[in-house]
Formats: sequence, structure tokens, C-alpha cells
Amino acid sequence: GCGICVDKCPYKAIMIIGLPEALKEPPTHRYGTNGFVLYGLPTPQAGRVTGILGPNGIGKSTVVNILSGTLVPNLGEYKEESSWDRVIERYSGTQIQDYFRKLVNGKVNVSQKPQYIDKIPKAFNGNTRELLEKADDRGVLNQLIERLDLDEIIDRNINELSGGELQRVAIAACMVKDAEFYFFDEISPYLDIYQRINVAQLIQELAQEKAVLVVEHDLAILDMLADVVHVAYGVPGAYGVITYPKGVRIAINQYLKGYLPEENIRIRPEPIEFEVHPPRAEAEVETLVEYGKFSKQYKDGFSLTSDGGSLKQGEVLGVVGPNGIGKSTFVKVLAGEIEPDDGELDFDINISFKPQYVKGDINLRVQDFLRSITSRFDTSYYQGEIARPLQIEELYDKMLPNLSGGELQRVAIAACLSRDADMYILDEPSAHLDVEQRSLATKAIKRFAENNKKTAMVVDHDIYMIDMLSERLIVFEGKPAVYGVAKRPSSMQEGMNKFLSNLDITFRRDDDTSRPRVNKPNSRLDREQKSAGEYYYYG
Ligand code: ADP
Ligand code: ADP
Ligand code: MG
Repeated sequence: GCGICVDKCPYKAIMIIGLPEALKEPPTHRYGTNGFVLYGLPTPQAGRVTGILGPNGIGKSTVVNILSGTLVPNLGEYKEESSWDRVIERYSGTQIQDYFRKLVNGKVNVSQKPQYIDKIPKAFNGNTRELLEKADDRGVLNQLIERLDLDEIIDRNINELSGGELQRVAIAACMVKDAEFYFFDEISPYLDIYQRINVAQLIQELAQEKAVLVVEHDLAILDMLADVVHVAYGVPGAYGVITYPKGVRIAINQYLKGYLPEENIRIRPEPIEFEVHPPRAEAEVETLVEYGKFSKQYKDGFSLTSDGGSLKQGEVLGVVGPNGIGKSTFVKVLAGEIEPDDGELDFDINISFKPQYVKGDINLRVQDFLRSITSRFDTSYYQGEIARPLQIEELYDKMLPNLSGGELQRVAIAACLSRDADMYILDEPSAHLDVEQRSLATKAIKRFAENNKKTAMVVDHDIYMIDMLSERLIVFEGKPAVYGVAKRPSSMQEGMNKFLSNLDITFRRDDDTSRPRVNKPNSRLDREQKSAGEYYYYG
């Protein structure tokens, strides 16, 4: 253990070697005697996007309250009356001192996009246009309506918007304000990869003049969005350390390896690895099931067709495509939740299914709920392979209806993997999870499929999750909300190539960690790969 709060450590596995340098410095802020302690601070700067990479509960909101002037940091001495003069003295000679000076002189206005957008309809009564026009100090609203595809919903009431629509409205509302410092607490929830990339480009344009701070758990997006990254580590709820800024590539690689050399800190016992594995030869693997062509049309218009395909025993398939293209409809048909209009699915296999929107409406404690699904709950296998990696232990005594979005997601993934089945389908398991929980969930799903030789199908927008998990890919094409086509399962190479060419972006693998990285549009590699038709890795 790290020796600081061993008894509180929800990870149990975290090992910090040596005392982190930052902890020898006095804290930035402490909430009361046994309250959360924050060390370090990010340094937002005009002209660049500053990212924070770390789990929830590590002090990001605290940081933003400090940087927006609503919380005067007490420098760890919570008994004393805190003052900005003391703060400015403490940071003498640093960049953040200049920032605080301006803040105190009223020269920093802050605009922020909150993490939980579902609170917006509760706080605002009116339509999209009213919300955005009220905030538009910069006179950029019309441009943003176009760039964020808000035309269709501009006269719609805020409380009627879908998650993805509300997210884009919240991002626009943050961007139209005139401020010196912009903070986006996650941009990717509810957005597909097309929309994530689009928002990332808009934020980069904003940062040409302004200081922008971003928290983002989708690493492919953080990688293309940020110029520098502060890694945040510690024990959620107990203490958090914000490191000095690092180059974005270095920060993400150090995070994946689980070790920060400059700080001499191990933040995770094992690295997160991307393997570049060649596709298995067809003959090597037995077929689990063949499914034929089928289609499904909803009353008010959308229609899905599936090209059919075969699923192999023990493989993990990724499923990718934009929002509203029929991915959830497709997996619901496979799982037997809805009937296709035509085409036969004479399946003789059991499927365990985690839907995209999980309900927590059963009045049971988490542990009783899981025990009711699996007789293995109390075994060391279950605890080690499922409960611990998904951080379920800390939730055992909570009631299902009281769980937060991220907590419910972890329980739903565990529940899906707890059932006895031939195939496991998970629809958007990364939703509401922070970066650490995504890595752990990815690993748990992959190990489960490998160790039990079970087939798994994972629908997700997080490319790192898809890349790490999948041996093959099902790509969706069509026109969102109108029609969608589920292509036959293909190799990762072929499928990603199709998917990325639809997106018009190219990927390379990082030399050091093999993780996928988005090439800068129009860079030499981007042009080379496009002309060779190799959107997914080159050479
Ligand atoms: P994050 O934004 O990274 O999720 P926060 O900054 O919101 O984290 O919170 C970090 C920790 O500080 C949490 O454990 C939270 O409970 C605690 N905390 C936040 N605000 C207060 C407060 N006003 N008083 C006491 N504890 C607080
Ligand atoms: P994805 O999972 O790719 O985002 P979905 O399968 O959820 O796509 O939805 C595809 C389209 O079908 C969307 O336009 C959605 O609004 C519509 N749709 C989904 N479920 C229903 C339903 N029960 N009745 C009518 N339309 C639906
Ligand atoms: Mg869906």
C-alpha cells in the first residue's frame, strides 16, 4: 500500500513506491480534518488545450472551483481563514501566480461545461435557441449551430433532447460565452466517434486564443485534442495529485504503462497493453453460430438490414458505427429481445445481454443481486476476475436504485458476465466509466472471453476499448435515423479500414505502446495512408 490511506484504498492493489515529490510539498487544498486532500494544480494557458487524465473523484471539480475563483484554496491549513494574498504568495514565481493575480483583479471569466448534462433540463425551462442566444456573448452562435449540427433541434424544448443532442447543446453553450478560461468536464459521453472528433476540432480552434482545460476519458480523443496533459492520480475520495504538465503522447504512454518516471510513482500494478495480433486462420476456430440476412423496420421509419455472417467460438467481436444507425437494434435482435420482420434466426444458443441503457429498478443490494445470478459469487475466481477488476466490492451493500450511472454500469457488466451462456453481448459498456474503470473493464471482458472460451460482442465508441478487445469487427453503414446496414463480420484490418475511411481519418500505431493514434489531417502520413487506402495502420 502507499501508506497514506491504506484502509480506505478502494483499489487495494495500488502501490506507490517512495513518497511522491508532490506530497512533500504542502497540499493545495484540504476539506476538513479527514476530508479529501488535493496536491498540485493544472496551469491553463491561452493558446493551448490542457488535458487532465485520471479517474473521477480525484479533485477535478475542486481544481476548477479554485481556478474559477469560487473556492479559495486553504493550502492544507483548513483551520485558518484563507485569502487570495496567501495563495498568491505561495505560488510566487510560477505561472499559476500570474493566473491568480488576474483572477483576483477580475480579469478571468470562466465558462464551463458540466460533467452531468442531465441536470441542464432541470435548471432551464425553454428551447435550445433561447438557451444559446442568452449566452451568446461572442456572436458565434450561427456558426456553432452549423458545425455542431443543431439545426434540427434549435426550436425543440431542452427537456425533449436525447443525450447526444443535449451534450452538443451544452458544449455550444460553453463555447458561445465570452471568457478567458474554458473548462469542459468530458466531451464524449453520448457522442459517437464522428461527433467526438468534430467537437475536438472545435475546441482546438477555440484554444487558439483562449485557455482551455479538458477532462476526457476517451484516450483516442484526448490524444488528438490536448497539447499538454496533467496526469491525476491518488485514491479517489481520499487524495489526488495533479502532476506537472507532460506532452500528450508521453502522458498517455506513462498512464498506460502505469508508471510515472518523473514522479517515481506506480499508479497501477500492471500495464495496459495493445497487442498487434495477426488474425487467426479461419480453419483454426470452430463456428459458434451462423446467422442469415434479416431486417427490422420501426413504425416511424428507421430500417435495419443485416447482411448475415458467422460468429466463431471464443472470439471477441467489436461493433462500430455512428449513433442512430441501428447497432442497438441489431444486438437486440440477436439477443432475442425483439423479433426481426423477415429473415430467420434459428439460434440454438444462450445469449447473455447487457443493454445500452441499464435499469437499476430492482430493490436489492448489489451483492444479493449478483448472488441471485451466479452460484460462483463467493468463489475466489469470481472475486478476482470479475468483482475486483470492476470495482464492485465497494458497492456490495448499496441498493441498486441508489447507484450512480458509472456504478450501475459496472454492476451491469458484472451481471452480464455472471450468467451462464454461449455468447455475451455488451452494448456500450464504456458509458459513464472513467478512464481507469474503462481499462479495468476492458481487461475483465477480454480475460473472461479468453479463459472461458466464450464468444463476446461489444458495441462501443471508444476506439481503445474496441482495438484492445476485438479480433474481428462488424461495421455499420447507412444514414443515421433513416436506415442502417450491418456488414458481415470482417477482420480488424478490413473493418477498421472501412470504418475509418467513412470517417475520413487515418490511424497509426504508437511506436512505444502500439496504441492507435489519429494522424493529423493532411500530415504526410495521413496523405500517404489515404492514397494507399490504408486508413488503419500502415506498413
Ligand atoms: P472529481 O471532480 O475529480 O470527481 P471532486 O473535486 O468533485 O472530484 O471531489 C474530490 C473529493 O473531494 C471527493 O471525495 C468529494 O467527496 C470531496 N469534496 C468535494 N467537495 C467537497 C466539499 N465541499 N466538502 C468536502 N468534501 C468535498
Ligand atoms: P444505435 O444503437 O446505432 O445508436 P439504435 O438501434 O438505437 O441505433 O436506433 C436506430 C434508429 O432507430 C434511431 O433513429 C432510433 O431513434 C430508432 N429507434 C430505436 N428504437 C426504436 C423504437 N422502439 N421505435 C421506433 N424507432 C426506434
Ligand atoms: Mg445504441
